[in-house]
Formats: sequence, C-alpha cells, structure tokens
Amino acid sequence: MKITKTTHSKLANTDFDNLSFGKSFSDHMFTANFKDGEWHNEEIIPYGPISVNPSTHVFHYGQAIFEGMKAYKNKEGKILLFRPLDNLKRLNTSAERLCMPTIDEDLFMSGLTELLRVDSDWIPNSDEKSLYIRPFMIADSEYIRATPSSSYRFMIITSPTASYYKGETKLKIEEKFARSVEGGTGFAKAAGNYAAAFAPTKHAQNDGYTQVIWTDAKNHEYIEESGTMNIMFRINDTLITPKLSESILGGITRDSVLAIAKQKGIDVEERKISVKEIVEAHKNNTLKEAFGVGTAVTLNPIDKITFRDLDIHIEKQTPNSYGQLLKKELLSIQYGKTEDIFGWTMEL
Ligand SMILES: *Cc1c(COP(=O)(O)O)cnc(C)c1O
Repeated sequence: MKITKTTHSKLANTDFDNLSFGKSFSDHMFTANFKDGEWHNEEIIPYGPISVNPSTHVFHYGQAIFEGMKAYKNKEGKILLFRPLDNLKRLNTSAERLCMPTIDEDLFMSGLTELLRVDSDWIPNSDEKSLYIRPFMIADSEYIRATPSSSYRFMIITSPTASYYKGETKLKIEEKFARSVEGGTGFAKAAGNYAAAFAPTKHAQNDGYTQVIWTDAKNHEYIEESGTMNIMFRINDTLITPKLSESILGGITRDSVLAIAKQKGIDVEERKISVKEIVEAHKNNTLKEAFGVGTAVTLNPIDKITFRDLDIHIEKQTPNSYGQLLKKELLSIQYGKTEDIFGWTMEL
C-alpha cells in the first residue's frame, strides 16, 4: 500500500487533556476509490481536504454511509481493536441497502491496520481515552442524474477522544417524528438517517431535553432507540431491550452488553417494549434502571424520561447497578484489562 507521510504532524499541538468529541483528527487518512466494478488506489495520505466537483453525486442524493469504532491501548502499549469485523459486516449491510459497493475484509483490515500503525502515537495511553475511528463511503460520480453513482470513495479518518461526563440525560418520548420506518433505512448506518433526526432532536433540546426516545413510526407505541444509541431497561431484575428490526440499528455495544449480561447470569429479554409498559413499571416501582449504549460513550445512564405530562425519574446508578457493572466489564475487555472470553479484541 502506498503511504505518504505528513511533513507537518499536528500531534504536538493537540491537547489530549481537552478533547471534545470529533473535533481533532490524526495526521493521516486511508482512501480508496471504486470504479469499473472494483476498488483501486488504496493509499494512506496526510489528513486534509479532498477536491470534488459540485455535481458530485453524494451532495445531491445522499448516498453516504459510515461506521464508528475505537482503537485502545492496553497497559503494555499494545493496540487493541474491538470487534472490527462486525463493523465491516454492518458497513456492508448499509452499503447493500444504499445500493453501494461492498468492501472485502482484506481492503478494510489492511487500510485500518496500516492507518493505525502510521498514526499509533495518536492512540492515547490511558484507560479513559481512545482513538475514535470513522470509516465512511460516499458516492462520487460527477453527474446529477437520479440513479446510483457508478463510482465511490471509501475513507477512514480517526479522532482521539476521551470519556467525559455528559451531564444529566433527560429524554423525551417522541410521538410526532420518526427516525426510521419499517422498510426504510433505519437498520443501516446511513448519513441521511442522522440528517432526518436533527430537527426533531433540536425541537426537544429547545424544550430542555437532551435527546429523544424514538418510537415506532406507525403508532408511536413501542420504544426503539435513544437518540443515536440503543436503549436498555432494568425492570425488576431483568434487562430488557427492544428486539432488532428493520427500524432499529443493531449496535455492537448493544450486542456486547447483552452477551456480558448473560454471561453474568442476568436475565435478558430482547422483545418489544411499549411506552405503556415503561410507564406502568415506573408506577409500580419496578423500573430500576435505564441506559443508552453505543460506541461513543459506551453506556450512558438515563436520569429522566418524559412521556407527555409524566416525568419518570430514574435513580442514580450505584456500583451494584447493572449499568455500572456492565460498563466496567465492557471497558475492561476493550482496554485489555480482563481476559476476553468472547474473542472480541484483536491485537494489532
Ligand atoms: C451507531 C448507532 C448505534 C450504536 O451502535 P454501536 O455499534 O454500538 O456504536 C445505535 N443507534 C444508531 C441509530 C446508530 O447510528
């Protein structure tokens, strides 16, 4: 693979003690082009602007997908990846739904590992920090005909990130807008899903909420996700999460948390959860915990859920709560502190 190194590293000028999510980028990026039915020009180049024409397909029809994952350093300074092939699998599921080409394991893993080797100093040596990895694909044919693009660009950029306290999480159960619909693109990590979610989220934020809880588009009766994270509840001693469907994104954190919970002997249920059930569990004091799960923040406890006029306050998590227990265990595996009995980590 062709590697062109930067002559102006930004490493010394990056303040690793004051990282805000997704704002600083490491020195290099991986790029590849799809043309005439094949991927070409895999290379690593300095991070920087790319030149495209205004007619570039993605600007008009939004054929764009992405992934989100992290690289960690363990105590010995070894680089660990967490379930990268699951991210690739999901990227290809997204690609198929958006009528884009898939990527094979060789291309993905060689691009990813070479990039991390070149930028290994950007992976923080701390168990509270990591390198966020953003693989993405855009349609880059230069024509504005409303048909699928014939050429694509796949890139990987990375951004050092810290785990940070987000403040209270107050969620509103959304009953007007929908993030995704049955038969739509909700299960894919498509850029357009995010674009469509911004306005409803902003309305909720203007009313003092941090995010919305998405419900099914048909009747707004069943809970789907919390903002851009999957959602889990503890009712009595059972951990419950919505069953995956076409309108729910299958998070790798969700899957990992469920596997750890089962291994710890916690009762786990994947099924439909109605808003009514959550309200009732609150009323009879059986709703003990609620949290969001996703790569960016791992596991984020929910403090309050508002349904119409009803405020449901959820108790702060204690060291014995499922939330804290599962978060700690997952982070320990990701940072290579505990033995990974699941075979999730991949050492570079
Ligand atoms: C990315 C994403 C998640 C979380 O997926 P992870 O693989 O756990 O990071 C959940 N919901 C939506 C809508 C997402 O885009």
